[in-house]
Amino acid sequence: MQANNWFGTFALRRLTYSRYTDESDTLKENLYFFIMDRLTPERRSWLMSRVKAKNTSPEMVVRRLVYGMGYRYRIHVEGLPGKPDLVFAGSRKAIYVNGCFWHGHEGCRYAGLPKSRVAFWAAKIARNRARDRENVSAMEADGWRVLTIWQCELKNREKISELLHDFLKQE
Ligand SMILES: [Zn+2]
Repeated sequence: MQANNWFGTFALRRLTYSRYTDESDTLKENLYFFIMDRLTPERRSWLMSRVKAKNTSPEMVVRRLVYGMGYRYRIHVEGLPGKPDLVFAGSRKAIYVNGCFWHGHEGCRYAGLPKSRVAFWAAKIARNRARDRENVSAMEADGWRVLTIWQCELKNREKISELLHDFLKQE
């Protein structure tokens, strides 16, 4: 499935942009409502996979921080559960960077469901959360240490740097 019309391209750019800005929750909800209701189911799932899978900006923030601390990593490693965003093979550590909406960050103000199609979104997000849990369990069962970072946590750069530093320095 391609973004072979202007609306698909617009929707992808706009949703990707919207997730990482301080736009109000009401605006974001209206935007999802407006866009999702104008897409066929096929295009909707195409859009959601694209918005989710790209080298999104929270991930780039984490990469830059980690790189600046002198650590080197691989990204999106195929063959590991859920393709962790950053993988430190030597020390057997992995980091997942989760968008609060798509991954259903509990109690987070960025994770609120749109007011329309609530059942659709609730089911979608619940599936994502279940998959995340399975991925982390599978990694840990295989001897990996895993850190999950949430998009909203990146607002406090000092705190997130500390968190990353503590995780990465562990022997
Ligand atoms: Zn959050």
